[in-house]
Amino acid sequence: MIKKCEYPGCTKAGVCRAPKNRELKEYWCFCQEHAAEYNKNWNFYANMTPDEIEEDWERQTFGESTKRSNEDTKDYIKFLNDFISGRDTFDKMPPKKSLPSEIISAFKTLGLPITASWREIGAKYRTLAKKLHPDTATGSDSSGLEFAKISAAYQTLKRHFGKK
Ligand SMILES: [Zn+2]
Repeated sequence: MIKKCEYPGCTKAGVCRAPKNRELKEYWCFCQEHAAEYNKNWNFYANMTPDEIEEDWERQTFGESTKRSNEDTKDYIKFLNDFISGRDTFDKMPPKKSLPSEIISAFKTLGLPITASWREIGAKYRTLAKKLHPDTATGSDSSGLEFAKISAAYQTLKRHFGKK
């Protein structure tokens, strides 16, 4: 009966034998695909000492890090372009003073500038909610009125930012 390929996770038949080490006494049973993969590495490292192999790994690492820094430069240029075009879009946005008064007062309720991002609003809301929630409120006000106010403001801004 034919054994299964010994490569972890492989379910094909182990029709090819590959030596486990230099002694060539023990063999793995691999499918053709994994035998080919193993042999490729074997041919590369079989005649090298462990030190030489380590040196080769170091060279590969160094080569990769050089390549990566080139990628970083490309990313940086892309970032600059994005920044410039993003800035351009920003300049074309309608001025903030045209915001409806309920939006402006919602920002005020949360103690945020009207230029605050949706992310900043979410963070601020979570902080305030924790402080003011009737179940967890630590201050003298435990009526939940303040909590209701900031919740309403948050909901208003949520609609304004088009969040569901
Ligand atoms: Zn296999």
